[in-house]
Amino acid sequence: MSNLKIPPLDLTPEIEKHWGEYMKAIEGVLKSAQFIMGPNVKAFEEEIARYLGVKHALGVNSGTDALVIALRAAGIKEKDEVITTPFTFFATAEAISQVGATPVFVDIDERTFNIHPELIEQAITECTRAILPVHLYGQAADMSSIMNLAQKYNLKVIEDTAQAFGGEYKGRKLGTIGDVGCYSFFPSKTLGAFGDGGLITTDDDNVAEIARMLRVHGAKKKYYNETVGYNSRLDEIQAAILRVKLTYIDEAIEGRREAAQRYRELLKDIPGIITPFEDPDGKHVYHQYTIRVLDGRRDELKEHLTEQGIGTMIYYPVPVHQLPVYRENSPMLPVAERVAAEVLSLPIWPGIGEETQREVVGEIGKLIK
Ligand SMILES: *Cc1c(COP(=O)(O)O)cnc(C)c1O
Repeated sequence: MSNLKIPPLDLTPEIEKHWGEYMKAIEGVLKSAQFIMGPNVKAFEEEIARYLGVKHALGVNSGTDALVIALRAAGIKEKDEVITTPFTFFATAEAISQVGATPVFVDIDERTFNIHPELIEQAITECTRAILPVHLYGQAADMSSIMNLAQKYNLKVIEDTAQAFGGEYKGRKLGTIGDVGCYSFFPSKTLGAFGDGGLITTDDDNVAEIARMLRVHGAKKKYYNETVGYNSRLDEIQAAILRVKLTYIDEAIEGRREAAQRYRELLKDIPGIITPFEDPDGKHVYHQYTIRVLDGRRDELKEHLTEQGIGTMIYYPVPVHQLPVYRENSPMLPVAERVAAEVLSLPIWPGIGEETQREVVGEIGKLIK
């Protein structure tokens, strides 16, 4: 990446901006000599629960673990079916498989890149127990339709909010609308740690109790293990860093949204490019700024930009239902399959700056006229 003039993501401006505060936070943990389940994890869980407006928030080791533990805490088990989107990171489906259940993939809405609410109902069977929507790139899935179906068929809803921390749907924070919310603090995410981390949120006392037990080897009381669980805790250093980052998260999200508006403006006269749809019901946090490149020119454009020193990403080149683990039992999902060949995520981070964005769009305009 070092030969890139403009990387797809640059974390350094945010790190440098609050360098002193991060150092102080890390130093505090070292001085306390408490590294696991100490005061920072406890305080962070309270602070983030308040920010999100949810009763329980539990730090875990990663977003993937958050999904696995949330599914188990919600009662999902062997032979159950969980309806989800094929257009996501592998971990979404992997977590469903990890608990012994089967992911049932439903095609997406090409405007939002999220699970198509009108296609969910026909995928519901006797075995369906949950819907697992993903708020891809930071944009809300259609939660009203999903919650209505869940109520009608008595299904749990587990939100994969890994890419959408701070995003909203009809004024409510994403991850707090369904039964359980799952978040990732992987460094590149909207709220990123300096290592791995994740979070589970819920208003349900029972789900919270089970999740709390599962993250520490299935024990409510140490050494009195009741079930087979996991070693999945957020550590003190990450929690201390995340406490600092949480105080600036709204600013960071605003920075991303401003950058997105500039891209929209700059890209509007380039033909054959579709800029992200902005659902009036949602607040998009632009974890990714993902355009669609039509006429089969996506790969050509990516190559052209790389040659000019501009880094872009393809999330995701292969929809999950076409990956080796799942492809045998999956139907064709034409929209996800087509869109996977069209998407291109442009460089974005809080404070990317207009000059950088002009350069990116200028190069796009040189190829696509
Ligand atoms: C990042 C991500 C995850 C997994 O999070 P990790 O913290 O990397 O385990 C799950 N789902 C989606 C949609 C993601 O983007």
